[in-house]
Amino acid sequence: MRKHANSLPPAPMLTNPVVRKAIHEVRRHIIAHLQKHKCKPDRIVVELAREAKMSAKDSDKALFRNRLRNRIKNDIIEEFKLGDLKQNQQRASVERVVLAVQQGSICPLCGNQRVKTAITPLMGAKGEDCELAHIIPRGIGGPNGLNNMVLAHTKCNRDMGRRTPRDLWGENFETEMNRVERMYADVERVDRKHVDKASEAKLWGCYFDKRDDDSKVANFKKELRDIQGFSERDLTDTRYATRQVLAYLSDALFDGKGLPERGGERLIFTTDGRWTGDLRREWGLFNDSHKSKSKGLSESEERARREKKRGDHRHHALDAIVIALTSRQMQLKWDQRLKTADARGITAEQYDEFCRQNRINPPAPFKSADELQEKALHAVYEQPGGNQERPVSHRAVKRKIVGALHEETLFGPIAKSNGLYKGSKSVLMLTPNHLRQARRETEKEAIERLARRRQLMAEVSEKDARKWATSTVKSKGYKPKIVDPPPDKSGLVRDRALRDRLRVPARGQS
Ligand SMILES: [Zn+2]
Repeated sequence: MRKHANSLPPAPMLTNPVVRKAIHEVRRHIIAHLQKHKCKPDRIVVELAREAKMSAKDSDKALFRNRLRNRIKNDIIEEFKLGDLKQNQQRASVERVVLAVQQGSICPLCGNQRVKTAITPLMGAKGEDCELAHIIPRGIGGPNGLNNMVLAHTKCNRDMGRRTPRDLWGENFETEMNRVERMYADVERVDRKHVDKASEAKLWGCYFDKRDDDSKVANFKKELRDIQGFSERDLTDTRYATRQVLAYLSDALFDGKGLPERGGERLIFTTDGRWTGDLRREWGLFNDSHKSKSKGLSESEERARREKKRGDHRHHALDAIVIALTSRQMQLKWDQRLKTADARGITAEQYDEFCRQNRINPPAPFKSADELQEKALHAVYEQPGGNQERPVSHRAVKRKIVGALHEETLFGPIAKSNGLYKGSKSVLMLTPNHLRQARRETEKEAIERLARRRQLMAEVSEKDARKWATSTVKSKGYKPKIVDPPPDKSGLVRDRALRDRLRVPARGQS
């Protein structure tokens, strides 16, 4: 990378190459910003991993759902006269009833084949010949939530013991899974709009929704290795990486300040990724410029279109706009709107409409969501000054840049050599020959470089710029620059900062 006035310190030497790489990429972005705008960013907003938490919209739904669930619970208590039971017995009873309805009175473990009795809501309420069963057994890390629970024949549950469905069914797993999936699909559920008027089993069936069915089916399919060593490590890794990136930004741009724990005005912010998608929808920032054409496409055409869209990375630019505008105030407004809706007794069915009528406006300088939408879509998708779409280059969707080699180290496949990969080698085994050695720039390279710069700095023709560059290079006092060879001729170590550090001791040894 060429040195320039606005250069930033290289990524610090961290033992974790993934984190170092992340910082390296952040650094490149900031350098691009410095070059283009000739100033430091005023404030930086970092988005944290998206999948970590529920989206804001989901937690709104959760609030309405809790209300509905309470209604269902009370209805069941009344229907089956469970009022006198102890609290935990009462809860278990209610859970058995809603599970019985969710599975259509069928025992998921045997499909009512081994034990022929149907498990009705009434039997569930009484706990007769049936009991709550974990799908992934508690003993091997299965959670206690209802999405990991079924209502099974007592006998079937005892036979299952501490096994996963996979272990239980062995070579019949596929067949049994088909049966389980059909079982959940067969149960009819009242549409959200008609919940208010539903009663008995129709009402109780709304305790769960399609997504609950799906995550339950997913639990049936889980393998032991999915369950154990489960992402606690990944989570701490992400947190660690984030902390390192924030510290780097603070050191590189704001003299070590800008973060709450380091004093001074706060300049570096983080936002939870769940807000990005929700605010994008709130402000109508969609990247689908072909929306109108998408109607009437066949399924495969639709898939091809989506495939193409995944390769179009411009929606990341829309994300970036939203991330920059996400602030604590926006989040407070969002929560405030929900509280208002709750206070006015708005139901889940009316809430979307309520949100449409009570839009959350983006912060200044935008006056409305419409204005933001127009400007953002224009900036990202249209040619400056024209109506044509901006030409876009994107990575082919199927070209993978992920894989063990990329995840674990900075080494990866060798460009232009199919099937060849770089491996890692102990630093102690390196010799100066392994490192790309800097060399003198050739005359030709120097002329090209200087001519390009001349053209950029002074508005002169290509020819004049070359002439000037040639005379500079050929003049007497000119000293050739020491440069790195181009990356495709690199040695073992491509990372420049690491290479610089290695060179010193490696030279010393030889
Ligand atoms: Zn059974």
